[in-house]
Amino acid sequence: MNIILFGPPGAGKGTQAEKLVVERSMVQLSTGDMLRAEISNNTDLGIQAKEIMDTGGLVSDDIMIKMIESRFGSDEAKNGVILDGFPRTVKQAEALDEMLTQNQLVINHVIEISVDENALFERIERRANESDNVRDDDNAEVLRQRLKVYHDNTAPVLPFYRKKGILSQVDGMMSIEEVAKNINEVLDS
Ligand code: ADP
Repeated sequence: MNIILFGPPGAGKGTQAEKLVVERSMVQLSTGDMLRAEISNNTDLGIQAKEIMDTGGLVSDDIMIKMIESRFGSDEAKNGVILDGFPRTVKQAEALDEMLTQNQLVINHVIEISVDENALFERIERRANESDNVRDDDNAEVLRQRLKVYHDNTAPVLPFYRKKGILSQVDGMMSIEEVAKNINEVLDS
């Protein structure tokens, strides 16, 4: 089973993906994590991406599509993948669709984790305070931009999946365990 976790920055996609990895032996493909790995390794791509990420923008579709493509075909993806942070634009969603069709694969569920946006600012602040490794894009100013980009570029992906009949919504304002339970219900349905 292949799924997409969808939602604004700070919605809890990464947290829920990690739980699914443990509980269902799925593989998490987080484009944000992949980009942060490029940054830590100081690659050319990482250097380019860091500037964009630090201001809350989006890394180019072509780069992101290639990045996902190289991971999707790998053996580790056979048990099912959780896409987290991808697709983030309609172009990415269309490219993903094509890639899946070519490999005779499908996305079974797209789960939108919906949240109250005022609460996001508190969450991101907390994440910044609690972590030893503070993300450069976890501050109120960049979050405002990331939310704008989410509304302008990423939310328009939702109708694409709604039309396919695979979109479900869970309330991301509940406890981590509660959200996980609701996601599992969708996946078992
Ligand atoms: P969050 O979901 O908390 O905003 P991510 O870790 O998913 O954070 O992404 C951090 C940043 O990485 C994004 O703001 C963006 O700059 C870049 N990024 C991640 N995934 C993509 C993608 N699919 N397309 C373009 N940029 C991306």
